[in-house]
Amino acid sequence: MNLETTAKVKKLLNSSKNIVVVGHNNPDGDAIGSCLGLANYLNQKGHQVDIIMPNDFPGFLKWIPEASSIINHEIDSEKSKKAISQADLIFTLDFNSLDRTGELQKYLENATAKIFMIDHHLQPDTYATAMYSDDTMCSTSEMVYHFIEALDDLQFLNKQIATQLYVGIMTDTGSFRFPATTSTTHRVVANLIDKGAENTIIHQNVYDTNSLERIKLLGLALKNLIVLPEFNTAYISLSKDELNALNFNKGDTEGFVNYALSMQGIVFAVIFIEGANDNIIKMSLRSKGDFSVNDFAYKHFNGGGHTNAAGGKSYKSLSETISHFIDILPNYKEALSNES
Ligand code: 5GP
Ligand code: MN
Repeated sequence: MNLETTAKVKKLLNSSKNIVVVGHNNPDGDAIGSCLGLANYLNQKGHQVDIIMPNDFPGFLKWIPEASSIINHEIDSEKSKKAISQADLIFTLDFNSLDRTGELQKYLENATAKIFMIDHHLQPDTYATAMYSDDTMCSTSEMVYHFIEALDDLQFLNKQIATQLYVGIMTDTGSFRFPATTSTTHRVVANLIDKGAENTIIHQNVYDTNSLERIKLLGLALKNLIVLPEFNTAYISLSKDELNALNFNKGDTEGFVNYALSMQGIVFAVIFIEGANDNIIKMSLRSKGDFSVNDFAYKHFNGGGHTNAAGGKSYKSLSETISHFIDILPNYKEALSNES
């Protein structure tokens, strides 16, 4: 975080007692980890802090220290509305546009509080009073570390914050392997371990707590895997009925798309998931190399994210969405031919 932004943050914090920290819809490890880490730090600095998520988050993140303090707007909207209306300052973390906050969007837009964005997604919107936005960062959780560092406050790093930020960095980097993982990331992680983050236990809590049904769902997803060799592309689909038959829980499909991308020669992978209640098709898009799934999702599927990992959605049926996807691919034949 540069000196100018640091000065702005100091000023904002000096004039703020009540602070709200908000993550995005369908929060992932980075959203939860970065919000909890920042909130713990701000609490120690004497602020009154509420953490709000637009909706629930997966069971494999519920063990994280202080996760039970998070207000789920879908369950407790009165509490979240009150916190937003009383806030002097709102931090929005791990998203670049307010439409990533679902039902919360209108309350955030009408809030009188100043807004500070911390985020690593491409093309940030301009709703914030000030922002620390850096799309070269591997995770918002690493940015929260640099935020605390810039304020010369690393002495506030305790075991809770170390654990929270470790989860965010680990999940957003695919366990420290995606291209945005730098030597600085590893130095930050080393410091988190020194401060008490128990790396083996954290990995086990997140990755080795699968239910049998989730493993069966993975089996079904792999059975549904289709390869389009002409486009070095592979996709997976899961219908509402298939998900219901295996008692689908939030977060169960997390990471499935990576199996499609893990094949030799595949540079583009997508998973299509039919929503249980809303019929909306949620897509996760991944790529290797230069092919930008951010651009693809933005242009065709109401989404975005990063060059190699993005999300999107479609309001068509599952089969229509997949047909549309297949129809578009010839326009990208050349871009997809560059094997990485
Ligand atoms: P996932 O596929 O894991 O849901 O998301 C991959 C990445 O894309 C994450 O960094 C996530 O924040 C971002 N992302 C997911 N859905 C959307 C979306 O609808 N719009 C935008 N702009 N980014 C998204
Ligand atoms: Mn993130």
